[in-house]
Amino acid sequence: MYDIDNMKKKEGVFLIQLKNVSKFYYSKGMIASGFSRVNLNFDVGEFIVITGESGSGKSTLLNVISGLDSYEEGELYIEGKETSHYLASDFEEYRKKYIGNIFQHFNLVGSYTVYQNVALILRINGYKKKEIKEKVPAILKRVGMLRYAKTKVSKLSGGQKQRVSIARALAKETAIVVADEPTGNLDSESAEGIAQLLQEISKDKLVIVVTHNYDQFAPYATRKIKMHDGKVVEDEQLGLVQEEERPQRLQGTAGSISAASTLRLGLRNTFNIIPKFLLLLVVFLFVVVSVFSEYTTLKNSDEEAAKMGYNDYFSNYSENRVLLKRNDGKAFTDQDYQTLQTAGNVKSVVKEDILLDYMISLENEQFYYDAYPKNLNDFRAKLAAGRMPETSKEVILAGDENDYYLQRENMDQVLDKTYKITLGMGEVIKVKIVGIAYEESDAWWGTLYMRDAMLEKMVRESYGSSSKVTTVANDTNLVYEVGSQYYRPIASDKVKAGEAMVSEELNGYYKNGKAAGQEIRMKAENLFYESSIHVKIADTYNKKNFTAKTELKNFEDNDGAIFISTQDYRKLFTKENYQVTVYVNDVKEMDASIKAFQNMGYVPLALKDTLITMGSELVSIVQVPMAVFLVLAVFFIAYFVIQLILRSRSSYFSILRMLGLAKKSIRRILDVELAAVVNIAYGLFLAVIALVHQGVIQSEYLKTLADYMELPDYVILYGILLVMSYFISGKFARKLFKKTAMGSFREEE
Ligand code: ADP
Ligand code: MG
Repeated sequence: MYDIDNMKKKEGVFLIQLKNVSKFYYSKGMIASGFSRVNLNFDVGEFIVITGESGSGKSTLLNVISGLDSYEEGELYIEGKETSHYLASDFEEYRKKYIGNIFQHFNLVGSYTVYQNVALILRINGYKKKEIKEKVPAILKRVGMLRYAKTKVSKLSGGQKQRVSIARALAKETAIVVADEPTGNLDSESAEGIAQLLQEISKDKLVIVVTHNYDQFAPYATRKIKMHDGKVVEDEQLGLVQEEERPQRLQGTAGSISAASTLRLGLRNTFNIIPKFLLLLVVFLFVVVSVFSEYTTLKNSDEEAAKMGYNDYFSNYSENRVLLKRNDGKAFTDQDYQTLQTAGNVKSVVKEDILLDYMISLENEQFYYDAYPKNLNDFRAKLAAGRMPETSKEVILAGDENDYYLQRENMDQVLDKTYKITLGMGEVIKVKIVGIAYEESDAWWGTLYMRDAMLEKMVRESYGSSSKVTTVANDTNLVYEVGSQYYRPIASDKVKAGEAMVSEELNGYYKNGKAAGQEIRMKAENLFYESSIHVKIADTYNKKNFTAKTELKNFEDNDGAIFISTQDYRKLFTKENYQVTVYVNDVKEMDASIKAFQNMGYVPLALKDTLITMGSELVSIVQVPMAVFLVLAVFFIAYFVIQLILRSRSSYFSILRMLGLAKKSIRRILDVELAAVVNIAYGLFLAVIALVHQGVIQSEYLKTLADYMELPDYVILYGILLVMSYFISGKFARKLFKKTAMGSFREEE
C-alpha cells in the first residue's frame, strides 16, 4: 500500500506548512483564542515534541494540523497545497490519507478486542480480508501486543491501551502520526516504553507529540516546540535528520469500507453490548406490541359495533348465520342437507329456517315465555330436570340459567304444566313442558324443543301466517292478507277433502244466490312458493250455526274464514323448507363460505350483511383518531428512548469518524445494527403469535386479537419498523456530523 510516486521532498515543499494560522473558539457569544499567528513547517522523519503549560494551545494546534478542527486565519499547506477552501469532507479525506491519531484517552472501542480495534481502521479504509489478516498480527507484534490480540480492550492497562492505539495509527501506513498527551494517563515506566515506540516509528513518518511533560520525550525528540499563551515561543532543532537517510514519503490509501465489512461491523455492534441490545429489543418490541394491539383492538371494536345493528325482517340475526335458498327455487331435499352438513366451515344446518324468526309464546295463568321452536333432533344440551318428550305435545324448554323460572327452586312451577300457544292463524294448541335445560343464548328468548310432528305444524303455521291467500269466487278475488281474518283458510276436521265451508255472505257473489255447490280456487303465495287447490263449497255458516258447524266458539274472531280439510290445508301450506339456515364456524371465513355456497348451487345471504348499523361510523369518528394518536405517541416515546440509547454510543461512532469513516458509511453500520434488532424483535413477536395460534400459549384475548391480523398487516407492521429504524439512524448520523469530529467527541467527555 505504499505510494512510491512523489517521494522526495521537492525544493521548498514541506509535508505540512502553517503560515500565520490562528484558531478561535466561539462559544456562548464569546470568542476565545486557541492559538494565534503560528508559523511552522514539518516533514517526514521528524519526531516533534510540542510542549507548554496547560491551556497554551497545544491540543488545538495538533487538532488543526490533523484536520480534526477548523482554523480561522492564515494558511495551512499540505504538500504545498493550500487548504482554506477545504470543506469538512475534504478534511475527512485528508485525515484518511495522511493522519494516524493517538489520543490521551486512547479512543479505542472498549467492547472490541485488540485485534478488532486494529482491524477496524483497515476495514474502514477498504482493506481486503486477506490483507487485514496478514497486517494486523505483524503490527501488533511490532508494538508488543500480539499475545493480547483476543483480549477485550476494556481489560487492558493504560500502557497496553496506548500500544494498541499506536498499532492502530500504524496500520493505515500514513505519513503523519499525531499524539496528544499519549502518556498523560500512564505511569512513568509505561510512558517510557511509549515514547520509545513512537521514536521507532518516526523513522519513516512525521510524528508529532503533544505533552506537558517534555522530559519523558527528551531523549527521543528531533525537535522541540514550546508554546505559551497560544503562541510558539521556542522551536529548537535537536538533531538533524540526515538528508540521505531522509526516508520515502508514505501515503495511506484512501479506500472505502466494503459492504461486507459494513454488515459485519453492524452485526457485531448489535450484540456487542448486551444491555444496550436488550434495551433496543425491548423498545422495538414495545412498538410492535402497541401497534399490533391498537390496530387489532380497533378492528375488534369495529366488528363489535357492526354486531349492534338491527333489521326488521329477522329477529334472529346472529353473526354466523347464513340464509340459503336453492338456485332453482325448489324445496330442499335430504340430499341438500347432507351436502351442506359436510361442507367446510359449517357448524350446523337448521332445516326449519323460517322458525328461527318465528317466535311463539307459551302462556298459562302464571307464566308467559317467548321462545323459538326447534327440532328435538338438534337438542344438544343436557336436561337439567325432567325427561325427554315422548309425544308431539311434549316439549323441552331451554333457556338461560339465570332465568327466574328456570332456576332450580322455581322450576316446579313450570315443569309438567300445560301451556297454550296461539298460532299465527289463530289456532290454539296445547303443549306440556316435560324437560328443562340450560343453554347459552345471545338473546333472552329461550328455545322450545319439540318432535317432528309438532315442528311440522309450526312450519305450516309460519307459512300460513306469512302467506297471502287469494280465493277466486266467480271471477272475484277474495284476498286474505296477514293480520286480517277475512277469507283466512282454517283447517277443520268437520270438512271433507276437496270441500270447503264458507260464510253465507259468499252467496252474494253468485247469480242464483247460492255459494254451496260452486267451485273455488285458492292460491297461497309467499316468499318461497306458490300453491293452489280447487275445492267445492259444500256448506255455508252464519253466526247462529257457527259453533255447531265448526266446533269453534268465537264467531266474531273467525267470521269470514274459509274452512277446508286438513289434507287440503296441508297442500296449501307445505311443510317443505325452501330456505335453510347454516351456522358457520368461523365468521372471518364468511366470504369464502359465501362463494362456496354459490358454487354449490345456492343463493346465500349472510345475516350480518342485512343489518343496519351505526356502530361502524361511531368507531371511526371516535376511535380512529384515538388510535392514530396513541400510535404516534408510541412512536415518539420509542424514538426518544432509542435516541437516548444511541447517545451512549456517540463516542463509538465518533471514533469511527475520527478514524476517517464517512457519514454514509456510519449510517449504514447503524442501519444494519438497528435492522438486526428489528428483525429479532419481529421474529419474537411472530413466534409468540404462532404459539398462540397453536394453543401452546393459551390466551383468549391474544387469540382474538391475532385473528384480526392478515398477511398484509404483518408485512405493513414489519415495514413500519424498518422505516422507523432507518429514519432514526439517518437522524442520528446527521446529528453526529453536524459538529466537527472534535466537537462531537468533546461532547462525550
Ligand atoms: P492545551 O492543550 O495546551 O492544554 P488547548 O489547546 O486545549 O490547550 O486550549 C487552548 C485554549 O483554547 C485555552 O485557552 C482553552 O481554554 C481554549 N479552548 C480549548 N478548547 C475550547 C473550546 N472547545 N471552546 C472554547 N475554548 C476552548
Ligand atoms: Mg491539551
